[in-house]
Amino acid sequence: MNQEKSIFSKIIDREIPAQIEYEDEKCIVIHDINKKARVHLLIIPKKEIPTLFALTPQDKDLMAHMMLLLPQLASAQGLDGFKTQINTGESGGQEVFHLHIHLLGN
Ligand code: ADP
Repeated sequence: MNQEKSIFSKIIDREIPAQIEYEDEKCIVIHDINKKARVHLLIIPKKEIPTLFALTPQDKDLMAHMMLLLPQLASAQGLDGFKTQINTGESGGQEVFHLHIHLLGN
């Protein structure tokens, strides 16, 4: 049970620096360190859910909360359109096993 914290949990706990764009009781939003677009944000739940495969019905409100944040964040960045991506599992290109939504826009 004593698993190592994810890099995103270390950011949430301010053990590692990051460019934080937004934070509330449920999630944190940071700028991706290796951005793939002019705006590349990561929406990260504070609850350490490893992947979409680990979601439970208890996570419904949290997921809805993060989805509702996307257009707000995009508008705040001056975007009139954006892409989202959730890489899931190693074969899905996921590298950090703490659920996160990529928001990309130019
Ligand atoms: P991929 O690297 O294929 O996009 P993920 O979907 O797991 O895989 O995304 C992890 C993302 O986290 C990457 O875009 C990576 O650049 C970003 N990242 C890793 N470490 C940090 C960090 N310390 N601060 C900000 N972003 C980070």
